[in-house]
Amino acid sequence: MGTYQHVLLAVDFSKEADHVGTRAVALAQEWGARITLLHVVAPVYQEPIYEGVTTLPLDIEAQLLDSARHAIADLARRLGVPEAERRVEVGSPKTVILGTAAALGVDLIVLGSHGVHGLGLLLGSTANGVLHGARCDVLAVRVPS
Ligand code: AMP
Repeated sequence: MGTYQHVLLAVDFSKEADHVGTRAVALAQEWGARITLLHVVAPVYQEPIYEGVTTLPLDIEAQLLDSARHAIADLARRLGVPEAERRVEVGSPKTVILGTAAALGVDLIVLGSHGVHGLGLLLGSTANGVLHGARCDVLAVRVPS
């Protein structure tokens, strides 16, 4: 069996993200594989209370994207992942992770067994959704609960 050639590492910036990332980078280095980091920002929906009046500042999504870009740059620097291999997208995390994996033709997705949403579960909802929908192998790095 050949080794993996392109790894997609999905990161949520929970406190375990460095641990999950270190595992993924070590494996990719061993295989000589390319590694791409991905974070997905959930879209911000704004309910108008009166016509044209919303409860949230209009640029909140832009601020979230900006913070995510800084956070992914910091994490990528710590992991030694080059700038061209960092992605921040907006959407449903599960859908975007699966779509990006298909678009890039990766052969392995690495994520944490659970992150900020899945504490206490065997597998978090993102991990579970990715595992069920992926067309390639998925490695869930165990995160202690
Ligand atoms: P969860 O299933 O949401 O508890 O998260 C499990 C794992 O999925 C995390 O450890 C991350 O590796 C990945 N993940 C969760 N949310 C995101 C996100 N918004 N963007 C990228 N990866 C994510």
